[in-house]
Amino acid sequence: MTEVLVVGAGPAGLAAALAARARGAAVTLLDAADELGGQYWRHLPPQRPAARERALHHGWARFERMRRELEADPGCEVLTSAQVWAIEPADDDGRVGADGRLIDGGDRAVAGAAARAALVVHVLVGPVDGADRVARSIRPDALVLATGAHDRTLPFPGWDLPGVFTAGAAQALAKGERVAVGERVVVAGAGPFLLPVAASLAATGARVVGVHEANRPGRLAAGWLPRPWALIGAVGKAGELAGYAWNHVRHRIPYRTGSAVVAAHGTDRVEAVTIASLDRDWRPIAGTERRVEADAVCVSHGFTPRLELPIAAGCAITSDRFVVVDAGQGTSVAGVYAAGEITGIGGVDAALAEGAVAGHVAAGGSPTDAEISREMRARRTTTDFAGRIEASHGIRSGWTAWLDDDTLVCRCEEVPYGRLRATGDATCSTGLRSLKLTTRAGLGICQGRICGRTVEHLLGGDGGFADGVSTDRRPIAAPVRLAELAGASAPNRPEGHLRKETP
Ligand SMILES: Cc1cc2nc3c(=O)[nH]c(=O)nc-3n(C[C@H](O)[C@H](O)[C@H](O)COP(=O)(O)OP(=O)(O)OC[C@H]3O[C@@H](n4cnc5c(N)ncnc54)[C@H](O)[C@@H]3O)c2cc1C
Repeated sequence: MTEVLVVGAGPAGLAAALAARARGAAVTLLDAADELGGQYWRHLPPQRPAARERALHHGWARFERMRRELEADPGCEVLTSAQVWAIEPADDDGRVGADGRLIDGGDRAVAGAAARAALVVHVLVGPVDGADRVARSIRPDALVLATGAHDRTLPFPGWDLPGVFTAGAAQALAKGERVAVGERVVVAGAGPFLLPVAASLAATGARVVGVHEANRPGRLAAGWLPRPWALIGAVGKAGELAGYAWNHVRHRIPYRTGSAVVAAHGTDRVEAVTIASLDRDWRPIAGTERRVEADAVCVSHGFTPRLELPIAAGCAITSDRFVVVDAGQGTSVAGVYAAGEITGIGGVDAALAEGAVAGHVAAGGSPTDAEISREMRARRTTTDFAGRIEASHGIRSGWTAWLDDDTLVCRCEEVPYGRLRATGDATCSTGLRSLKLTTRAGLGICQGRICGRTVEHLLGGDGGFADGVSTDRRPIAAPVRLAELAGASAPNRPEGHLRKETP
């Protein structure tokens, strides 16, 4: 029986696990979070359950069905609080190339079957802050990566003040804690994600004083209006959009296009922001600046995929930083599939469709099989939807005009824009590794998850770096204690620790 490991239990991973089970594979579904559902279906803490957990969610009933089915299925092992911290080539199989790619199927290959993954996935299971996480190393036949994305935020003067949140963090607090990040909140950035964030803030009691989309109406129209028939498959989104529009009317939330928060002000925390109109490339238009009082700001300029594991597995990545996949969601590495936001930012429907295709093919099916035709059709629609999001809301280069020399770019290592530029100019280096070492940008606790793409753009422009390095390469994908790395030699390792090597 094919053993499929699915990493990530958001919409894409859940759909992948179900589809793989439908084809009879033995499935392990794991997620670093303590509940299934990913970023989209978040849960209230168990100590504070609410009868209406589904409030602020779309498709909660569908989620509950998926979860029930997987949890009740003896053929699916579900692991939560299970962090994959590394992926490496299998060393028991002499036929694996130095880059981790399969040269042939190895001793596990079956004539006529799809090529098997030749990777070992290292997992720590247990609460992140607990001392007794259990180490497991899993060698699946097929691996589905569905690790999602986190939101991308461009810097501006004052963005390091308390009270400035990523829109994703504000949404997570609203959905997962029913907490609003402030009383008078400005939401700004680019993309449709600003709308559910404003809705959740209003529902949790905040006064949203404005939603500011950086793109001008011309660009939004050029991205969304052509070929309207291609959007018919995404008709469900129209109802969601209508709900957000009604939310803006009901709570009197102004929605402004072609404008952005270009500075936040305050001493101990945010007290006000400067909002400016932008030109089509997001350069502030002189004389349009106005000050708005606010005690919180939520900013998001799109999403950036979580690529640590695909890169560690050796998957090819596109120039705009998504995992390259074929019609069956197969990556460039045999036996490794990818689905959801790591292959493109298309929203929950895209994640569900891609996940189902990935799980089906990982379990030995084909993208042309009748059982998966509905998902293949949905995938075509959602691919179009993802293209429109990028065309309408993608980041424009003029945002660097918001920065002054003192604006912190890397908040962990406190590297301001002026120093970053001056050090880059002084070293004349064309390699990202040496630039990171000399500037310290991206070397702090978040390991460049927040600032990495920004640092790359500011130091390397659009041309990339001579050493081919990217800030998404993190061979150790999550913090691991030295004792956990040391494994058996850990002094506080309790009895019962399991190291399961799947041969
Ligand atoms: C903070 C946030 C809030 C969002 N809120 C909304 C919203 O309200 N409305 C909306 O339409 N869209 C929202 N989105 C976008 C939406 O979540 C995505 O469209 C959708 O969830 C993508 O599904 P996915 O399965 O690809 O990824 P996700 O739902 O992100 O799931 C990925 C899962 O992978 C797990 N994972 C990642 N790395 C590892 C690892 N190394 N080991 C183990 N597990 C791992 C994560 O814990 C996560 O549960 C939000 C996105 C973010 C980042």
